Amino acid sequence: MMNDEWTVFLSSFIIPHSSFLLFMLSQVVDLIVAKERFAITSHVRPDGDGLGSSLGLFWLLRALGKDPEVIMHDPVPHAYERLPGAELVRVTPAVDRQYDAVFVIECSDVSRPGLIDLEKQFVVNIDHHATTSHFGQVNWIDATASAVGEMIYNLMKAIGVRPTREIAECVYTALLTDTGSFHYSNTSERTFKIASELVRAGVKPAKVAQAVFNNYPWSKIELGARVMATARRDPSGRVAWMRQTLAMLDETGASEEDGDGFVNYPMSCGEVEAVAFLKETAPGVYRTSLRSKGEVNVARIAEQFGGGGHRNAAGCTLSGDWDEAERMIVRELLDAVERALDDSQVPTARLDAELLAALNAES
Ligand code: 5GP
Ligand code: MN
Repeated sequence: MMNDEWTVFLSSFIIPHSSFLLFMLSQVVDLIVAKERFAITSHVRPDGDGLGSSLGLFWLLRALGKDPEVIMHDPVPHAYERLPGAELVRVTPAVDRQYDAVFVIECSDVSRPGLIDLEKQFVVNIDHHATTSHFGQVNWIDATASAVGEMIYNLMKAIGVRPTREIAECVYTALLTDTGSFHYSNTSERTFKIASELVRAGVKPAKVAQAVFNNYPWSKIELGARVMATARRDPSGRVAWMRQTLAMLDETGASEEDGDGFVNYPMSCGEVEAVAFLKETAPGVYRTSLRSKGEVNVARIAEQFGGGGHRNAAGCTLSGDWDEAERMIVRELLDAVERALDDSQVPTARLDAELLAALNAES
């Protein structure tokens, strides 16, 4: 078969087709088959992929007759309360039981789950961030997956389990949220293919969207009004920033998680290429969400400040004076936008030079 035909043929299986990816996946399959008692965890303040993938894996292990448990440092956020099994998540500061293995979902390093004594367990690291450190005894990293949810789906296929409604809803939620409702550049043909199979397995997309995006408390609206009033942009209009203070949470009765998603509002402006949203979590400490469009790489900036993420969606924690923290991160964003613009001009300049040379040769 020709190369292209081969790719089309393999992609119809949905399973990742690089041999190293298959090797990592087979290690996870072997472990699941051989062992019984598992814990599953994800990062602090878990998001839709962290929770959806964890619970998806939970239901998959249950379907195999295993003994799994989902443990998290933080409670399930409001938006994910309706996920099947959300009420079974055990909130704990430490891995306080002995397991055959602990699956760590979507974490850049072993400290991200925020669980004491995690490193004493047999750790299986499952992630789709290219920059993740290989901190597990088994590591399965697939940077081609739009969400870890895709990987859980592949695991389900590889292990021969049919998607139950529970697995399907959890995995669909992971895909939906990590692709920004299928908006981000990580959304691929494979994402839609998997989403379509999940819908066939019983997922009602409107019901999931309703539960995740239209189920907020009014305090979020009041908080949003205050946060949006702080939105500013640089003279070029390409970089925007805004803040959420502890006082705003106090005034509105909102929780920190109510601020999730606000970062997307400035991004919806056509001119804006990058946004920083600083959320004060303790006096002088700011959890910062970074977003960008196209080639502007905010993951690199987040890493500089001890955080991480994807090229167009990343995060880190800053500290110190409000204005100074803001100035520092905005300066980085302006530089990144500038660099991306410079880079995008290189091919045009080169093309012009080539065209000129060709014209000169003709004349
Ligand atoms: P958010 O702004 O929604 O909190 O985070 C966006 C993305 O950035 C997350 O999906 C995650 O990949 C990454 N991220 C956010 N905060 C951190 C952090 O402190 N450390 C690392 N490694 N990644 C982060
Ligand atoms: Mn993810």
